[in-house]
Amino acid sequence: MKTTKSKQLFAEAQKYIPGGVNSPVRAFRSVGGQPLFIKRAKGSHLYDVDGNSFIDYVLSWGPMILGHAPAPIIAAITRAAANGTSYGAPTELEVTLAKMIGQALPSMEQIRLVSSGTEAVMSAIRLARGYTKRDGILKFEGCYHGHSDYLLAKAGSGLATLGIPDCPGVPADFTRHTLTASYNDIEGVQRLIKAHGHKLACVIVEPVAGNMGVVPPGDGFLQALRELTRAHGVLLIFDEVITGFRIGYGGAQGLYGIRPDLTCLGKIIGGGLPVGAYGGRQEIMQWIAPAGPVYQAGTLSGNPLAVTAGIETLKRLKAPGLYKKLDRQAAELAEGIGEAAKKAGVALTQTRVGSMLCGFFTKGPVVDWASAKQSDTQRYAKFFNRMLERGCYFAPSQFEAAFLSTAHTPADVEKTILAARAAFKNL
Ligand SMILES: *Cc1c(COP(=O)(O)O)cnc(C)c1O
Repeated sequence: MKTTKSKQLFAEAQKYIPGGVNSPVRAFRSVGGQPLFIKRAKGSHLYDVDGNSFIDYVLSWGPMILGHAPAPIIAAITRAAANGTSYGAPTELEVTLAKMIGQALPSMEQIRLVSSGTEAVMSAIRLARGYTKRDGILKFEGCYHGHSDYLLAKAGSGLATLGIPDCPGVPADFTRHTLTASYNDIEGVQRLIKAHGHKLACVIVEPVAGNMGVVPPGDGFLQALRELTRAHGVLLIFDEVITGFRIGYGGAQGLYGIRPDLTCLGKIIGGGLPVGAYGGRQEIMQWIAPAGPVYQAGTLSGNPLAVTAGIETLKRLKAPGLYKKLDRQAAELAEGIGEAAKKAGVALTQTRVGSMLCGFFTKGPVVDWASAKQSDTQRYAKFFNRMLERGCYFAPSQFEAAFLSTAHTPADVEKTILAARAAFKNL
């Protein structure tokens, strides 16, 4: 594989941009390589500056569920751009998107649009604290909720990959109110809530964890969180920035039948442009300014370009059978990779919910961060590089999900399985 131009660009990038990238995991550090510089993308494929092409299973870390540059979305964005890209004044488009989201996730009775997942979570936490008049928050080890200060405790992929235990620049005073429990450990949560429940504003969880690899919730885990939080006047926040519109049109809450108090969205709802959202019970959302006293604002919030991309994406996700087809194709890919690993005698623990999937290089089972960490990341790095050589672009870290889009074809899946067979040999 030729990488001359990517190498040149990376050398230059490092002069002007810290680490050469604008988000850490992009740097390929944990897989011992150099990042490829991408020139364009279309459908299921990425094309780099050296003329290589790849079947893309990163999909911009989740948003591109319709594949890259879908013609109707690009046309809609282009039309919207001609009318101006931001007004700093309300538009009908924002009402349309809020309505569409509320119909898909009925727990989101009112919605505020922001510009990233980080911002959505940060704002939802402020709201939860304002509404409950409590400071404490409880999160799960290995769950990532964006890079805001008090959520950078035990936060999964990016930090794990770089081996940053605690982030310098985050005052201890800021994480003092952050409690952490193990994912899927309901007794642990029970203990913490019993001791600290009266001080807790919220429990925040990725209903399917997607930032320590993919770790699905065990039977009854989410239900127990719902009951425990309700009993103690603690708000339950689902961070569905990945799972929203990914594992079903109704997100994880639709799939598992749980109604959280607040939900955070991002990624897919922006159709590849910067959008985040948070929302929930009207009575709680009424605490947000200007309706209520909890301040939150944004210059580009709800801008017509990003909101158009979101609306047009959601419209297409309503197509009958779309999620079933994604699920089937992801199952085929997982099966093929699983069989290849077995044949080669490689211990691989696979996890999957719909079109988000992962393979851990460990005997498993993987149910939380401690067990996810058992994965042989050196082996993953080798696997990753061999797959890349064969034209398959997986995440440059063990602790990320692989995603499928509606643009992936049976031929893509078949080619990937063949590549995996070769990659597992003598791994
Ligand atoms: C990506 C992600 C975020 C942060 O979203 P950004 O748009 O990157 O700020 C928050 N929560 C989860 C679960 C995510 O996967």
